[in-house]
Amino acid sequence: MTNESPSFSSADIARGEALFKGPCVFAKGVTRIEDLPADGRPEVAFAGRSNVGKSSLINALTGQKALARVSVTPGRTRELNYFTLGKQGELYLVDMPGYGYARAAKSEIKGWTRLIRDYLRGRRELKRAFLLIDARHGIKPNDIETMKLLDEAAVSYQVVLTKADKPKATELADIQAKVEATLAKHPAAYPVVLTTSARTGSGLPELRAAVAASALGGAP
Ligand code: GDP
Repeated sequence: MTNESPSFSSADIARGEALFKGPCVFAKGVTRIEDLPADGRPEVAFAGRSNVGKSSLINALTGQKALARVSVTPGRTRELNYFTLGKQGELYLVDMPGYGYARAAKSEIKGWTRLIRDYLRGRRELKRAFLLIDARHGIKPNDIETMKLLDEAAVSYQVVLTKADKPKATELADIQAKVEATLAKHPAAYPVVLTTSARTGSGLPELRAAVAASALGGAP
């Protein structure tokens, strides 16, 4: 499936490509709100259930094989992982901890929820959150919880379907329509869904363009 979106011009796509051609470097892992970077750089965040394909997508976007895993060493998976992106370090990519991990302890979930809530509520630098949803499964109850957090915090967010190479085209269209119907009920959600595959690379130029436009200006 192609991922043509009328909202992206070839100039938007080129800007996204140029941004992601620049270096992407791990900056820091944050577990406490007071440790968030304070340099005012704009940022975009990637959120999603664990196993949604977030690490694979970040690695595919940046063209680096193991970038998102660098920080995923034991004990560090509950952090907000900050990466600088671009020739001039124009923005931060924030890899949020995956949620919905079946074996997570209750106390851990509580800690995660508090960190995320505090982060989303007060973070002016956060220009858009990209909420990753597995194209085979669609939106799950804990995704709805995250969407509510984003709505309450009035953080603009956009759904990105992952692993689009897996479902058949008809199933994919069906999931996409269902997701868009759900988004219509969420005030902070951007209505256009992006469809991606880290494996085939489909939809990546559009997602790079969306990151560039939302962090650096010009987002629709
Ligand atoms: P994370 O927990 O969200 O960071 O997920 P990972 O990136 O570790 O991916 C979870 C699983 O999904 C791994 O087995 C990946 O190989 C697989 N996966 C990730 N992206 C894709 C994709 O685009 N297509 C397919 N078919 N599998 C994928």
